[in-house]
Order: sequence, then structure tokens, then C-alpha cells
Amino acid sequence: MTGLTTAGVMLNDNFQDNKVSAAGKISNEKIKYAGKNIPVLYDVDVCVCGGGPSGTAAAISAARNGAKVVLIERGIALGGLAVLGCVYPFMDTHAPNSDTPYVAEIKNRLRKKGIDPFDGVTQQTWHNPEVLSLIYDEMCEESGVNILYETVLIDALSSNEKISTCIIQTIAGLAAIKSKIFIDSTGDAYLSRNVGVPFERGYEKTGNNQPLSFRFEMGGIDIDRLYKYVAIELKEDWCKSDPPYFEIAEAMHRKQRYKLEDLMAKGVESGELSQEEAEYMQAYSIIGKNGVMSCNFPEIPVKFKSTDPIEYSKAVTYGRKMMRNMANYLIKHLPGFENAYISREAAMLGARESWRIKGKYYMVEDDYHNQSRFTDAVCRTAWFIDAHGEKISEKLPKGGFYEIPYRALVTEKISNLIVTGRCISASFILQASMRIQPTCMSIGEAAGIAAAWSLKNNISVNSIEWDKIPKNQRSYVSQSR
Ligand SMILES: Cc1cc2nc3c(=O)[nH]c(=O)nc-3n(C[C@H](O)[C@H](O)[C@H](O)COP(=O)(O)OP(=O)(O)OC[C@H]3O[C@@H](n4cnc5c(N)ncnc54)[C@H](O)[C@@H]3O)c2cc1C
Repeated sequence: MTGLTTAGVMLNDNFQDNKVSAAGKISNEKIKYAGKNIPVLYDVDVCVCGGGPSGTAAAISAARNGAKVVLIERGIALGGLAVLGCVYPFMDTHAPNSDTPYVAEIKNRLRKKGIDPFDGVTQQTWHNPEVLSLIYDEMCEESGVNILYETVLIDALSSNEKISTCIIQTIAGLAAIKSKIFIDSTGDAYLSRNVGVPFERGYEKTGNNQPLSFRFEMGGIDIDRLYKYVAIELKEDWCKSDPPYFEIAEAMHRKQRYKLEDLMAKGVESGELSQEEAEYMQAYSIIGKNGVMSCNFPEIPVKFKSTDPIEYSKAVTYGRKMMRNMANYLIKHLPGFENAYISREAAMLGARESWRIKGKYYMVEDDYHNQSRFTDAVCRTAWFIDAHGEKISEKLPKGGFYEIPYRALVTEKISNLIVTGRCISASFILQASMRIQPTCMSIGEAAGIAAAWSLKNNISVNSIEWDKIPKNQRSYVSQSR
């Protein structure tokens, strides 16, 4: 009888009684949504949607500054593209002293876990995706961030220029989250678009988004053999560091002629590769995963848009075929790959760019070339404009950089919304520079500080003047010229 009663309760209510559910569940309220009564799982200060590099940083930084935070993530690991998307390593911003405290901490934590992220030559950070997701879980636990995994933001309720509630799909069913401040870290500006924030997608000149990639990892590679072949026999000097830090690359659309281009072109001649498969190939060794390389390919043709659900889904199927074909070709023809195999596929497609908000400040290409400075700057970067297939810019002169203003993270439209990461207010071309992971992390870190500052000082987040926050509480202070 007891069993039947329990089953009966569970059928009527997918959610456990609050008293017996996980710690941190702090609301017993229900709200009406789409004709249903759904539970409010959390009523918090800050709700962060999306646990990528920028969202995780925002959540941790808001919690460390005293806010009650919930972080929604549709996967079961934090890190977004860096973990679920197999995107590796953190690129170098090329800007001097660009590491904000959070970025420096991530690098230190990697080292403490036995992953030395520095090759001593390049400035990129050779992390390890599984160690990174562990570090993120630990940092959230330490700072008191409540994570909701396998939870998808599906809708938001707003009125009078304020969001009140997010509607989420959880493992138990639909639920709501109430919060004072919302941070859109979905990468796709999903929350912002839902509440009417103006947005853009793709390149205004061609209508194309940046190409999608379906990244993966290959194991069983003899990296020393590969290094001898590529760096010594072919005399390729693209990768300046030696194994275990080693990279191979080839990109037919770039000015740079890589030594592996011939190998890929031969594949097209023999009919083993298509031209689009041969076009772009890049792979990095992964620190702490001997014999494994992170593959930055296949690059999927731009006809498959990152902003169209049907084409996006077709891109997965198309990309998976490309991946298998390219992997088979390398196994057959590239010394070092003889015993290699696909060891891991990304759990999210690699969207370099999809939707971008139009906020209080709209960053443009001139901000890159003019090395713009802003009194409300939240970070600096100098990664070149890397719009695959559209524009690859010259690097800024050594020591040069531009800054990202807080106003590019907030909107006129919604007073309690901050946007982070690759979907902030920037043109297609400028976004192609600011989108790298360390810059996204620094943006998220600043968003978390601003959210906590807003709560303490009763100022809406879209009215905050970042430069009015005391210097010692800011993650970055502008360097005006
Ligand atoms: C192919 C490729 C190669 C790249 N190479 C590099 C590189 O070598 N180095 C580098 O530094 N950068 C690289 N980048 C760029 C960089 O990885 C991204 O720009 C960066 O990860 C963006 O961070 P983000 O936090 O804005 O978003 P994302 O990393 O996209 O994270 C967004 C998160 O939000 C979650 N999410 C989205 N929608 C919802 C929803 N509705 N509900 C719940 N959760 C949701 C996602 O699951 C994800 O975890 C590359 C990008 C791509 C695509």
C-alpha cells in the first residue's frame, strides 16, 4: 500500500516534496504557465542561463560577491564549448596583462591538478577538458552556486522592462526560477531574444553565420612520430613548441601555406576527401591525455546556418560523416596516426557565432583597429579578427589591444539583464575577435561583480557605471591612453 501511495503522489507531481529534495531548494510556490501549475524551484538574487566559459565565471563571481545564485546548464558539465564542444586550448588574447583574477585563478587551479597549461613558448593555455569541468564544479561548490544540470531555459516572463521568471525544462518536468537579476550566457542570446531585446545574426554583407564545426578527439596517436614527420621531415615551423605541446594545422583559404596542405590536396585528387573536407584541418595535443589530440575540424559549409534549427540539425549529420571520412584519411596517410581512432565526439556543435544582442554600446571593427579604450571597460583583448571564410585581419601591433565596455553587456530594453560571452553587443566582424574563451571568462567575471554591486546598491544593472564601482572591487580597470 505504501508503495502504491508513493507512486500515486509521484504521478501527480513530478517533483519531490520540497522537504525531501536537494538542499538549496528554497521555494514552495507554484505559478501558472501554459495552463499548468509549475513549481518555482528557486527564488534567488541572480539566475545565470548557460554554463559556458562566460556563464560559469558570472555565476561564481556573483556568488563570491554575496549573491544567491542558480546556474542553468543544458548539459551535464560546465565549460560550454570548452568542455561540451571539445574546443581547446584557451587562445592567447595577445594583449599584455589581460588575465583578470578569475582567468589567472583557472590557470593556477589547472596547474595544481597536474595540468601545466603553458608550453613556455606560446601564450595559449593547453588545458584539459575533464579537469576543467571538475575545477568548475569545485569552484561552484566552494562559492555556493546552485547548478541545475540537464536543464534547458525555454521561456521567460517579463513586464515593465524587467524579467521576473525563467521557465525551464528539468529532468522532472517544467519548472520556474524567480530572480532579481538574470544573466544571459547562452552564447545564442536565447534569453535576451525571448524578452524582446534587439539582435543580429550572421554577417550583414553575406547573410552567413560563421561556419559551424563538429569537433572531436582522436586517441592512439604517436605524437612523437607525428612531430618528427611534420616538424622535422616536412620542416613545418607553424607550431613553435615541442611535444607534449604540439599542434598541426592546414587552412586552404588562408594566405599562410601550411606544409600539410599537399597531403590534404592529394586526398581530393584521389577522391578520398571532398574539397570542403580538405579545406580546414587543425589538431592540438591535450595535456594529461597522452596520445590524444583535440581536432578542430570538420568545418561545416556555411550553407548550414547556426541560427536555423533544421539546417543546424542537418549540420550534425553532415559533420559527423565529414569527421569520420577525415579521421579515416589521416589514419591511412598521416604518419603517427596509424593506430588512431575517434575517442570522443563533442556534445554540442561548435557555433562560432549565431545571434548577438544590440546593447547600449555596439562594438564595431573600428574599435579593434583604433584600439578603443573605455572608462567602463571590463577587460582587454587583441585576438585578431578571425571570421572564417569572410575576413582574417592583421594582428594589432605588439602590445596593442582594445577594451570591451560594460555597456556592450547591457540593454536599454531590460533593466535587470546582463549578457555575457560570444553574444554581447558587437558586429559580426568585431565578435570574430572578442569571442575567445579567456575574453568570454573576463566578461562573465565582470557581469557577476556588476550583478552583486547592483543588489547591494539598489541600482539596476543597465544603469550601473562600471567605473563607479570601487577599483579594488573591479576585476578590470580601464587603461586610458
Ligand atoms: C569550432 C570553434 C573553435 C574555437 N576555437 C577556440 C580556441 O581555440 N580557443 C578559444 O579560446 N576559443 C575558441 N573558440 C571560441 C570559444 O570557444 C567560444 O566563443 C566561447 O566558448 C564562448 O563562450 P560563451 O560562454 O559565450 O558560450 P558557450 O561556450 O557557447 O557556452 C554556452 C553554454 O550555454 C548552454 N546553453 C545554451 N542554451 C541554453 C539553454 N537554452 N538552456 C540551458 N543552457 C543553455 C550551453 O550548453 C553552453 O554550455 C572556438 C569556437 C568554436 C565554435
